[in-house]
Amino acid sequence: MTERYDRLLAALREVALVNSVYFVVEWDEQVMMPPGGASHRAEQKAWLARTAHTRQTSAEFGDTLSEAEREQAGAADDSEERAVLRQARRAYDRAVKLPGALVEEITRTTAHAHHAWVEARKHNDPAKFAPWLAKIVALKQQQAACLAKPGQAAYDVLVDEFEPGETTAHLDEIFGALRAPLVELVGRVMGSGRTVPGELLARDFPVDAQEALGREAAQALGYDFTRGRLDVSVHPFSISLGPGDSRITTRYHANRFSDAFFGVLHETGHALYEQGLPGERYGTPLGEAASLGVHESQSRFWENLVGRSRSFWRYFYPKAQRAFPGTLGDVREDDFVAAVNVIRPSEIRVESDEATYNLHILLRYELEQALMSGDLKADDVPAAWSDKLHGLLGVRPATDDRGCLQDVHWSGGSLGYFPTYTLGNLFSAQLFEAAGRDLGDLDASFARGEFAPLREWLREKVHRHGQRYQPQELITLATGAPPSVEPLLAHLRRKAHEYYGV
Ligand code: ZN
Repeated sequence: MTERYDRLLAALREVALVNSVYFVVEWDEQVMMPPGGASHRAEQKAWLARTAHTRQTSAEFGDTLSEAEREQAGAADDSEERAVLRQARRAYDRAVKLPGALVEEITRTTAHAHHAWVEARKHNDPAKFAPWLAKIVALKQQQAACLAKPGQAAYDVLVDEFEPGETTAHLDEIFGALRAPLVELVGRVMGSGRTVPGELLARDFPVDAQEALGREAAQALGYDFTRGRLDVSVHPFSISLGPGDSRITTRYHANRFSDAFFGVLHETGHALYEQGLPGERYGTPLGEAASLGVHESQSRFWENLVGRSRSFWRYFYPKAQRAFPGTLGDVREDDFVAAVNVIRPSEIRVESDEATYNLHILLRYELEQALMSGDLKADDVPAAWSDKLHGLLGVRPATDDRGCLQDVHWSGGSLGYFPTYTLGNLFSAQLFEAAGRDLGDLDASFARGEFAPLREWLREKVHRHGQRYQPQELITLATGAPPSVEPLLAHLRRKAHEYYGV
C-alpha cells in the first residue's frame, strides 16, 4: 500500500514547484535584471521563500509525513521509500524550527546585501559591505540557535545544512591532513626554480572566440544545450530551474583565458549532474543532488581532473589554436598544457591552482568560524583576511576587491558553505581514480574526444541515485573506500613532479 506515501510525494513536489519559481527569478536577477529592479525583486523572493516555507511547515504537511512514515514502517532499510522519508523528515524538522519571519528576513537581507556587495566590490570599499555582513552573521546566529541540537556549536549547524552529517571536528581532521602537505608542496614548487609559461594565458583572447570554444567544450563533455543555456553574470554559477532546464553562466575577460574556459568546464560539471538526475523523480529527494560537496566533486572532476589533463588538450588544443590563430599560432601544445597546470600562490580563489585552492578554503573556513563565534567582527575582516592569506601562501591581496570582497557567498548568507568545496575536491580525485580503475585507459579516450564513457560512469555511480545515500556513503559505494585526502594529494604530487620536477 502506498497511498499515504504517494500523498507525501505530491506534497513534496508542490514545494519543489514553488522553489523552482524562486530559481527562475534568481537566475533573472543575476543575468538579466536592471539595477532598478532590485528592491521589488527582494520582495518577490521573500514572498516565494515564505510561501515555500509555509507549505513545508504546515500541520497538513506534518500529518502527511507522519502518516507516510506509519504506512511505510515495514520498508527495508536500504529501500527508496526509507531514503525519501529520511530526507523529508530532516527537511521538515529543520523547517518547523525556523520561524517564517526569520526566513523572510534572511531572504530580504541577503537580496539587499548582494547588491551592496556588488557595489563594494566595484569600488573596492569593504566598509560598504561590512554592515551587511554583520547583519547576516547575526541572522545566521539566530538561525543556528533555532536549529542546534543540545551542545552543537553554531558553525556546526550551518555546515550540516550544506553537507548532511558533516561536522567541524571531521573538517578539522581533513584540513589538518591537508595543510602541512600542501604548504610543503607549494614551497617545493616555488623553490624548484622552474617557471611555467603561465603568462601566455594573459595574451589577447577575443571574447567571441572564447564563448564559441567554451560552448564547444561543454558540448563535447555532454552538456545538452536543448536542456540548458550559457549566459554571462558577475559571479559564475549553475542553477537548475527544473527537469529539462539546467543553466550555467560565466564571465569573459579578453586577457584571461582560464577564467571563462575552466569556469565553463566547472559549471558544465555541475549541470551534467543536474541533467543526470532522474527527471521522473523531480521534486522528491531521489531527484535531487546528494549534497553540495558531491555537487562540487562533479564540477572539479571535469574542470581539473579531465580539463587540465594532457590528453584532454591533445584533442582540444588544435581547436583552441584555430579559435585564436594570432594568439596561439606560435605556442607549442606542451607549453600550453604546462601553462594551464601552473602552481603559483595568488590572491583570488577562483583563479587559483589545484594545489593552493584548498588553502584558500582553509582561510575562509577559519574566518567563518571566528565570525560565527563572535571572535571576529565584520569590520576587521579585511585585515584578518590579508594576514591569514600571507600566513598560508606568503602573499597579500593588493586591494580588498581581490581580498575579502572577491566571493559572493557571504552576501547570500552562505556561511558554512566553503568547506564543501574542499570536500568536492577530495571526492573528485577519489572518483577519478576509481573511474580509471573501472574504465581502463582514460587518456586514450580523452585524446580521441570521447568523454561519454566517463560521463556514463558518473551517471551510474553518482547521478542516478539522487539522495538515496548520504554523501560519505555514496562516495564509499562509488569508489570502494571511504572519503580520504590521499587521492587528491597523490594527484597533486604527480602534477608537481610532472611540471616542476619536484
Ligand atoms: Zn562549483
